[in-house]
Amino acid sequence: MKSTMMAAPLSLNHLLERAGKLFAANEIVSRLPDKTLRRHSYGEFYRRARALAHALQGAGLRKGDRVATLSWNHHAHLECYFGIPAAGGVMHTLNLRLSPDEIGWIAGNAEDRFLIVDDVLLPLYKQFAHLHKFEKVIVFPFSGAAVPAGFDDYEALLARADPDGFSYAGHDEDDPVAMCYTSGTTGRPKGVVYSHRSTVLHTLVASLGDFWGLRGTDVVLPVTPMFHANCWGMPYGVVMMGVKVVFPGPHLHPEDLLDLMQLEPPTLSLGVPTIWLGLIQAFDAAQSAGSPNHGRWKLPRGMKSMVGGAAVPESLIRAFDRHGVWIKQGWGMTETSPVCTVAYPRDELGEATDDVKYARAATAGVPVPLVDLRVWGDEGELPWDGKSVGEIQVSGPFITGSYHRVPVEPDKFTADGWLRTGDVAAVDELGFVRITDRTKDLVKSGGEWISSVDLENALMGHPAVAEAAVIAIPDEKWSERPLACVVLKQGAQATAADFAPHLLKHGFAKWQLPDRYEFIDAIPRTSTGKFWKLKLRERFPK
Ligand code: ADP
Repeated sequence: MKSTMMAAPLSLNHLLERAGKLFAANEIVSRLPDKTLRRHSYGEFYRRARALAHALQGAGLRKGDRVATLSWNHHAHLECYFGIPAAGGVMHTLNLRLSPDEIGWIAGNAEDRFLIVDDVLLPLYKQFAHLHKFEKVIVFPFSGAAVPAGFDDYEALLARADPDGFSYAGHDEDDPVAMCYTSGTTGRPKGVVYSHRSTVLHTLVASLGDFWGLRGTDVVLPVTPMFHANCWGMPYGVVMMGVKVVFPGPHLHPEDLLDLMQLEPPTLSLGVPTIWLGLIQAFDAAQSAGSPNHGRWKLPRGMKSMVGGAAVPESLIRAFDRHGVWIKQGWGMTETSPVCTVAYPRDELGEATDDVKYARAATAGVPVPLVDLRVWGDEGELPWDGKSVGEIQVSGPFITGSYHRVPVEPDKFTADGWLRTGDVAAVDELGFVRITDRTKDLVKSGGEWISSVDLENALMGHPAVAEAAVIAIPDEKWSERPLACVVLKQGAQATAADFAPHLLKHGFAKWQLPDRYEFIDAIPRTSTGKFWKLKLRERFPK
């Protein structure tokens, strides 16, 4: 017997058409380089995305050609998310925080044909232009200034194109729509290529109630860069649901974000933990009567915040909850589209104490539908008992099965085709994944593993600590011992001796405590804003 269902391919173009028909009046807000707000409607977005597709085809784009973007979060970048695939192209978001050498290498490895770049980022483009020759460089006049000679003008291209005369490039659901490189925190960047099918499935799953819980009445503030794992897929979600979106443009400092939240209060926001750490510090500092920012900000009550990309300290979740903001932690990778797990308050926790609920919220969460997740130890698959620690392996329709132009290696994929994430975790009976480390960050002391993530989270719960990162240093007797790098809150005082009692109170054994503390000004950040332990290991080799 055969199913009677139509063989209609899953398609991003459907989401674009839907937004044009159903949500034409809904708003897209972008913060421009001069900090003014530009408002534009989904109706305009729809026509401009189609015009972009028409213009790209007119410029000779062929199916499967890569079009790179080098852009902040704004409306034109959203147009690229849909216009490039509509034309049959593959959108490749370049990470503007990488070094020019790395960006040039990545553009070459992806064989990008065209580039769409913000005018304010042209100085960066010029630093890697010699490393990869784009056939066409289209400049988006984000600042409002005239586009310099020698480049194509994004707005002029759109003005000449005909959104009504455009027709979509035909495609199968497995055809590519976007690609993204891993940020290379633990090795050379590798390209992951997403399809219509994987992107639509990921959008549907991530938008569900217990995860993003995306509704048409939401106002979304995506602080996660659109080049970081496709802004975790949120641009596709907002278009699918016609959700009002507020793009912060290049202004990502805590004060700027807090200002923006006053102008356009979001109901849902997303970003890595360091963003929210900075935000709560600026907000708390403004509460004291003597602060120049006293009374300037309110946190949007009832806002949900999706935070992931690195472990979220429980103290951060508690700090925001005190102001009516609920942080939902998610875990995933560029390789996984990226949402794999989300920590939501499961029904079964209904009667549990607040401490238990916060502890669950501080895990990476529960696997979302369509993601198969297992924990693998030396002897094979481990039980979900909350104790058995091994490597997380995942498989599913929005998880990559290979890398662009890289042979499939056993250290990345298992013989039965699962992705090896390099993250170490235990899963409890309710399915909450508790990540203890990345394989490369674990501290191996005398044959036992010490979780750097657990230590960091406990240290960041100390009232004097703003940030903490724990690394392994070599030790003759124990092979490795933990060293804690600590950034104190402004005006706070603490010495190493203050931390041992705090950590013991949090359940650490004596042998797990750091032997050494280094008080530093700031923890270095990776290109996606995570703590960069590699730099700390270089700074404190022993
Ligand atoms: P990079 O590998 O360069 O950091 P990604 O953004 O793809 O680039 O990072 C994926 C990794 O980020 C995961 O493998 C994991 O180590 C880490 N990560 C993501 N979310 C979480 C989380 N909630 N808790 C702990 N680690 C996380």
